[in-house]
Amino acid sequence: LRVRERAVLPASVRSDLDNDLTAPAEIECMSQPRILMLGPPGAGKGTQSANLADEYDVSHITTGDALRANKDMDISDMDTEYDTPREYMEAGDLVPDAVVNAIVDEALSSADGFVLDGYPRNPEQADELEDMTDLDVVLSLEVSRDELVARRTGRRVCDDCGTNYHVEFDQPEVEGVCDGCGGDLVQREDDNEESVRNRLNVFDENTQPVIDGYENHDGYVAIDGERTPDEVWADIRSAVEEHAE
Ligand code: ADP
Ligand code: ADP
Ligand code: ZN
Repeated sequence: LRVRERAVLPASVRSDLDNDLTAPAEIECMSQPRILMLGPPGAGKGTQSANLADEYDVSHITTGDALRANKDMDISDMDTEYDTPREYMEAGDLVPDAVVNAIVDEALSSADGFVLDGYPRNPEQADELEDMTDLDVVLSLEVSRDELVARRTGRRVCDDCGTNYHVEFDQPEVEGVCDGCGGDLVQREDDNEESVRNRLNVFDENTQPVIDGYENHDGYVAIDGERTPDEVWADIRSAVEEHAE
């Protein structure tokens, strides 16, 4: 199983080189938190995880992006129903555990601090993660059904760097063009109504029980994800400051 590295480890491989030795003490003792970001599809996990990766200089590990960059990799040796992740993703079904577990395992092994987004999505993956690492902060973004649908149908994603936008709630300076890199903003193939509906069912059946299971974790914080991106970010930052050391 081969995974393109850039997709698994965007922005922050540079951490060590960039660390300023004269940085204020509070930044030093806050360094490298291990953060899990939970929530339904469209809740804002990707958007807020990008903020966390910037602010705390940790790796943003996201199984959705890693899989999109490797949609056609050959997984036939893993005894799966389909030969590539593509078929599962287009239908909004879960890609087999063996594939995503391997992606996360590899990404975690080269990360100190991280924000993990899009995994675990079922209780088996949660068990697997428990064997791989401890977590300092477990964030659960809570957003109502109606709002989720509006967010997803308006989501646009940069073709090049993966930054999220929204046609109404988070517009770029120039329509259709990424502020950061000038790439084209496109609609994801699986942001169509049928796939979206299936993803919500998959979430209810498989992922909600995972979130319930984390409620007793010491670092668990439920976040009201229905407010503006800036308001949500302020709460997330407080939660991390409180739980990471
Ligand atoms: P969203 O942003 O809508 O929550 P993602 O980008 O996280 O969706 O994931 C897109 C697709 O990739 C999912 O519908 C699923 O097919 C696959 N996928 C992502 N993460 C996992 C995972 N942990 N386990 C199984 N499949 C996954
Ligand atoms: P997820 O990774 O959980 O699937 P995203 O971060 O991709 O969610 O967000 C889904 C869509 O909603 C994107 O178009 C994003 O720009 C938009 N969005 C994110 N956070 C908010 C918010 N607090 N209010 C309104 N729209 C938001
Ligand atoms: Zn871009």
